[in-house]
Amino acid sequence: MICVRCQQGIAPGEPYNEHYHEAASGPGCTNYTHKKCPEPKRRGRPAAGASR
Ligand SMILES: [Zn+2]
Repeated sequence: MICVRCQQGIAPGEPYNEHYHEAASGPGCTNYTHKKCPEPKRRGRPAAGASR
């Protein structure tokens, strides 16, 4: 399954939501989204230390 929100695969056993969309004709389709999408990896971000 592919999450329609982040376009990343939903791993088996990972919690997800189903969104059913009715079609005008024929069977509808079901979209899946993570319950919590993984955040995209940010590169080049310096670790913010000594903020306290
Ligand atoms: Zn997602």
